[in-house]
Amino acid sequence: MTNKKAHTVIVGGGFGGLFTALDVAGTGDVTIISDEDHFLFSPMLYEYFSGEVEKWHIAPNHEELLDESVNFIQDQVTDIDLDSRTVGLKNHPERLSYDVLVVAPGGVTNYAGVPGAEEFSIPFRKIAHADTLRLRMVDALDHVAPDLPPQDTQRALTFAVVGAGASGVELSTKMADLLRDAFKRRALHGEPRVLVIEMGDRILPGMGGEIREYVEEALRELHVEVHTLTRVVRVTEKSLTFEHNGEQTEIETAAVVWAGGVRMNPLVENLKVEKTNRGLILVKPTLQVLSHDNVFALGDIAFFKDATPTLAGTAQLALQEARLLARNIKAFLSGDELRTEHFEELGEAVSLGTERAAILVGGKAFGGTLARQARFALYTSRLPTWHHRLRVGASWFFDGTAPRPLLPLGIQR
Ligand SMILES: Cc1cc2nc3c(=O)[nH]c(=O)nc-3n(C[C@H](O)[C@H](O)[C@H](O)COP(=O)(O)OP(=O)(O)OC[C@H]3O[C@@H](n4cnc5c(N)ncnc54)[C@H](O)[C@@H]3O)c2cc1C
Repeated sequence: MTNKKAHTVIVGGGFGGLFTALDVAGTGDVTIISDEDHFLFSPMLYEYFSGEVEKWHIAPNHEELLDESVNFIQDQVTDIDLDSRTVGLKNHPERLSYDVLVVAPGGVTNYAGVPGAEEFSIPFRKIAHADTLRLRMVDALDHVAPDLPPQDTQRALTFAVVGAGASGVELSTKMADLLRDAFKRRALHGEPRVLVIEMGDRILPGMGGEIREYVEEALRELHVEVHTLTRVVRVTEKSLTFEHNGEQTEIETAAVVWAGGVRMNPLVENLKVEKTNRGLILVKPTLQVLSHDNVFALGDIAFFKDATPTLAGTAQLALQEARLLARNIKAFLSGDELRTEHFEELGEAVSLGTERAAILVGGKAFGGTLARQARFALYTSRLPTWHHRLRVGASWFFDGTAPRPLLPLGIQR
């Protein structure tokens, strides 16, 4: 029988934490703590940036999604004490006790110690980051007069994206499309410059060749410059310096976006549990933390062995783990046997600018505007709660998903 008095505390309101909370709701007392008031469907942060979708579509408030059986606290968890079974909160003096703990705070941007990167580049993990980038682009455009010669216009409108993983590719193609549109609307001379700087020898290292062909074609057509085997060595307020073949080049930049990787969340760094060499929490096949049966971990901070390797650090994995984890919390509290599962990749989808995408499902890749529509349909089905999915699906169907142009600041809509 379910222990009604047991208190489950979930740290983090992202894919792992929120989907666990939704499935475990009603099993004893459940509290979810997150430092943001909203969930974020990060695979569509690019569409939010380009104005194809609105904030409420992809970043609904936790209180709207969760029913009254789950208590939501907006705060930052500062530490976890596994001995006293409590968590500390930044803005609440009292520590919160738990019987069952779920650790799901996700990762944080990895600036890899590059001088100036943290101070001057824009990360791309949150709604606020997308807002900052958009404003920076509008501001840069607003400072360019239509009669400026093409080479000066390009110098003033050079944007660099660091990292050519899915994030760097999706973002750079959106930026290129928005800038091209802005050039036409504002009758500017020449063309903008969008660069992607990648340390490795190719783009999208984790993705299959089928989808890469579509991506490379889009990057070429949108004139996004990809520099592989190139390392960023310095970022300043108005420039970026990179090194290729031992030679350093400094370019003037209107903005640098850091999509160069994820590192361990400091909360997890300070947690004394068994971890991999990369600092990920080692979990049993049941998602329990080793030596602490009442503590579970999932998502970007956990290492789950029985999952296809390409799933590491993805929303797909966190989502599938959350379903298993919620079932295991119920089993744990009622004294039943905990289970495990093997997690498979559910397919890949990347947006390529504001008009097309590429999708890989069942080993078959396709691209273009149809793939863009399919991506929207696919992601509608992955949003949290049927009620939210219904509202968003209706909004996309009836109101459309056209991008919002980079209009001058005074006339932004
Ligand atoms: C721009 C972008 C695009 C992406 N696109 C895709 C994609 O297309 N497909 C895919 O599969 N994956 C994608 N990912 C990866 C995916 O978002 C992550 O793998 C997934 O979100 C991991 O889920 P999580 O629950 O571990 O962490 P998150 O979803 O990051 O959630 C963690 C939550 O915890 C909060 N938090 C952090 N620290 C604390 C603290 N100390 N106290 C309280 N709250 C805290 C955070 O603010 C956040 O709300 C993308 C990521 C980004 C950034």
